[in-house]
Amino acid sequence: MSTLSATNRARQQVLGYPVDIVDELTALEVFEAAWHQGKGLQVITLNAEMVVAAQQDQELDRIVRHAHLIIPDGAGVVWALRLSGQAIDRVPGIDLAQAALKRASTAGRKVTLIGGRPEVLSALERLLPKVYPGLLIAGINHGYFSPSEEESMVERLAEGKPDLVLVALGVPKQEYFIDRWHTFFPRAIMMGVGGSFDIWSGASTRAPAIMQKFHLEWLYRLMKEPWRWRRMGSALPKFSFQVIQDFLRKPSKKSFKNSRNK
Ligand code: UDP
Repeated sequence: MSTLSATNRARQQVLGYPVDIVDELTALEVFEAAWHQGKGLQVITLNAEMVVAAQQDQELDRIVRHAHLIIPDGAGVVWALRLSGQAIDRVPGIDLAQAALKRASTAGRKVTLIGGRPEVLSALERLLPKVYPGLLIAGINHGYFSPSEEESMVERLAEGKPDLVLVALGVPKQEYFIDRWHTFFPRAIMMGVGGSFDIWSGASTRAPAIMQKFHLEWLYRLMKEPWRWRRMGSALPKFSFQVIQDFLRKPSKKSFKNSRNK
């Protein structure tokens, strides 16, 4: 937490969950500061689905609240913040993770990748050092290990002493994983990256730039992966309804805005 406060950053709330008011560059500065100080960081990339999941899951609730850095990853989270008068843009987790890989490669920081299908990981092991020359991969493990294999896998990966650990197991599995094992990686920035490995390897595609620009990446995912309807279809209305309720309950939005402009 001290790393964050040292860089003097505002923290807001969305439905009671903390969100750091950062852009990509500021988030990278926090990473650099943590590396410099040899401190570990747990990073959450917050979106509407995760907020609703955390409301129904005490463990995830605790993990989100205790993270060192909570990134405004989702369009819904950004919309909620803007509604309360906070000027902010999305920081997609996949972009931040790419920027962190780039920084790591130029700063001689070691990276470990956990999660994804075995063939996706093999492709990344070949590809990433080409995209980020100088990238040091300290360890790599696919995400289809059994619970009984987990501890020995983590012990082996910890021996590589990585500075950045990207975990692609999907929400909330990756958040639980980071929470369970972060003490084995005391100097690492640990971040859940969902389906990013699939996209980087070319196994799946990201939304076109125009959809990204208009914060419609979630819609693209829904169209490509209709099975998400069940999860997103209930979470997104729940989230929007609560945000609007919250907004209407707040006294005197106008005077809040005016006081900010003074
Ligand atoms: N995954 C994994 N192990 C598992 C379940 C999932 O490695 O037991 C990987 C999966 O291969 C995919 C990623 O986790 O690469 C999940 O991506 P998704 O886009 O579904 O993540 P979310 O939408 O939850 O962020």
